[in-house]
Amino acid sequence: MQGGPLIPDIVHIDQPYWYDEGGDMDPDEFGLMRARALEEEIDKHGEGRIAAFIAEPIQGAGGVIVPPDTYWPEVMRICKERDILFCADEVICGFGRMGEWFGSMHYDLQPDMISMAKGLSSAYLPIGAVAFSEARAQEMFKTAGEFFHGYTYSGHPACCAAALKNIDIIEREGLIDRVRDHTAPLFAEKMKKLADHPIVGEVRTRGLLAAIELVPEKPSRKRFENIGTVGTLCRDHCFANGLVMRAVRDTMVCSPPLVITDEEIDELVEKAWKSLDDIWAKVGNK
Ligand SMILES: *Cc1c(COP(=O)(O)O)cnc(C)c1O
Repeated sequence: MQGGPLIPDIVHIDQPYWYDEGGDMDPDEFGLMRARALEEEIDKHGEGRIAAFIAEPIQGAGGVIVPPDTYWPEVMRICKERDILFCADEVICGFGRMGEWFGSMHYDLQPDMISMAKGLSSAYLPIGAVAFSEARAQEMFKTAGEFFHGYTYSGHPACCAAALKNIDIIEREGLIDRVRDHTAPLFAEKMKKLADHPIVGEVRTRGLLAAIELVPEKPSRKRFENIGTVGTLCRDHCFANGLVMRAVRDTMVCSPPLVITDEEIDELVEKAWKSLDDIWAKVGNK
């Protein structure tokens, strides 16, 4: 790994990725199992040694991993019972990506902290932020007087102005309601058609996030040998066909702009189908 070891004293639990890791389990049962891994890990170290649980509502760059419906309610129960803070990483899910201001709202989560960036300024200028719940902010101000944290360019006025204007425009154009009520349902419906392609094992969408699982044979959820090779080739076909789609191992992921039009969704799906044809012609079982 580049950059040496990661920050010490952080423990990880396995992800709620049913398609790859769920085996014969029912997705809901699997979701509960992966949530309870949090409980086991907390108990192993002791409640007093775990400050917070950090996770994305939907894991984005990890492969658009949509947890089973049982996962989040169980995680919230565990965090509340053990008094463990929950920090939602909303860098991808926030600002309309899931048809709500935050992915946490989609799942009815109550985070103590939210980290945000990307959609905060729609990337026009670089800016990130952390929000605290009222209760946690009050505690912090009582004990420390302020939140000690900063970089040289933290809160740079130009970036803040760009972010505020960006949020203004999202509100003015009603973009988030439009994603929730119109664009995301249409996107889901059109993307689902890709599941008919012989190389596609599953299509998942939530809001304007999508994942397409590439597999050599559908029902078994078996993977290609040399994981990542077919995904990378497929990505190259996408680029050649004029479609920006990323590969995470052998999972194609995409997150189109919130302003995508109905016609552009059709174009995206057409180009994706063509790219799947191109990769299937190379690697399909003949
Ligand atoms: C891009 C991304 C990050 C990285 O954010 P930085 O501001 O570069 O640290 C963190 N979390 C998620 C979910 C991301 O997509």
